[in-house]
Amino acid sequence: MEGMLEEVVNIIEKKLILRRQAVNEISAYNVEKTLQAFRKEQVSDTHFLNSTGYGYDDYGRDTLDRIYARIFGAEAAYVRSQIVSGTHAIAICLFGILRPSDELLYITGDPYDTLHEVIYGTNNGSLQTIGVHCRSIALLNDEFDLQAIEKALTKQTKMIAIQRSCGYAERRSINIAQIAQLITHLKKINSQLIIFVDNCYGEFVEKQEPTDVGADLIAGSLIKNPGGGLVKTGGYIAGRADLLTLCAGRLTAPGIGAHVGATLGNLVDMYQGLFMAPHIVAEALQGALFTAALFAHFGFNVAPSWDEQRTDIVQKIVFKHKKKLIKFCQMIQAWSPVNAHVTPFPAIIPGYEDEVIMGAGTFIQGASIELSADGCLRPPYTAFLQGGLSYEHVKLAVVKALTAILNYSD
Ligand SMILES: *Cc1c(COP(=O)(O)O)cnc(C)c1O
Repeated sequence: MEGMLEEVVNIIEKKLILRRQAVNEISAYNVEKTLQAFRKEQVSDTHFLNSTGYGYDDYGRDTLDRIYARIFGAEAAYVRSQIVSGTHAIAICLFGILRPSDELLYITGDPYDTLHEVIYGTNNGSLQTIGVHCRSIALLNDEFDLQAIEKALTKQTKMIAIQRSCGYAERRSINIAQIAQLITHLKKINSQLIIFVDNCYGEFVEKQEPTDVGADLIAGSLIKNPGGGLVKTGGYIAGRADLLTLCAGRLTAPGIGAHVGATLGNLVDMYQGLFMAPHIVAEALQGALFTAALFAHFGFNVAPSWDEQRTDIVQKIVFKHKKKLIKFCQMIQAWSPVNAHVTPFPAIIPGYEDEVIMGAGTFIQGASIELSADGCLRPPYTAFLQGGLSYEHVKLAVVKALTAILNYSD
């Protein structure tokens, strides 16, 4: 590390001591919560035996479902490697609950890029093609726009959707306290509304999850936070038992439900990954705090800032410069354990509207609980950095990336 930068890094790490302690305190809480769920369900090594074929009577799978439900403060959960991604987990929730002529109201602005086809696609079996109407209401000063939401509610509005993490949007992420307040408010207006939360990137960042504060249904990806870096593929949904039963018809097929689904060789990773998840999320968060403070020191706009409360693992850095964004993502990959010798370039990726650059060298393809940086090539050229299985790795990679950018000239 160059001399000047080393000094800055030392100053920043001193500045972050209290913030990192706060992250560790949440992690300790969530480790205990997780451990208690394992103890109550009396997990033993026979739970890691896997089923094949239909996967009937797989008590390792069914016990893991109950452990998730306990941790998330939900009545039930399905944790499955047959859920191929976060988008799929969310789609199961939407298609499981919504019926023709129902309305879906997204109240955190435009949904995450990969959901556009799920909701608005034409001729592809999207919600729109089966007659489910969807509208979105943007946040107002990073808060729910209560007036606009109340005005948009109709007799047909069946589900309210909240995306906790910002995704590729410029907005802030929505924290648990905001979600709690909003749910209390909406349920007073209409107790029948089903509140769905896209929980991707949010798990274990705070002490509570959306289902602890009244969300009816949540979904997420196992190659993000709750997989703890160990799970090879999968997703989960959790929430009210009656809603989960409806979703089970989409998870597999109507009439078959959630009693099937072979676990093959996946269970031990899913258990161990969940056990590790609160700690791994804390490592990623420490890395994000460091990144925020470091880049802010050198004049970059970052969000959240190092001293702000967090509800997800995403760190935004604004480069205002296309080539610097690209360079940053390339350097993150160059300082990764896998594919460090390969240089990523921007490309069109299915589900995303602008060209995207993705820098990552992960053991599990596309896993963004492992260190990864990406960005859409549109102004203001914001990098989205997330993950990191160890703080040391994040620190090293972002210092290398910053050095390259400070030395960058056209
Ligand atoms: C990652 C993500 C998704 C989609 O998950 P995939 O696994 O990429 O399909 C949806 N919403 C948010 C907020 C996400 O971060």
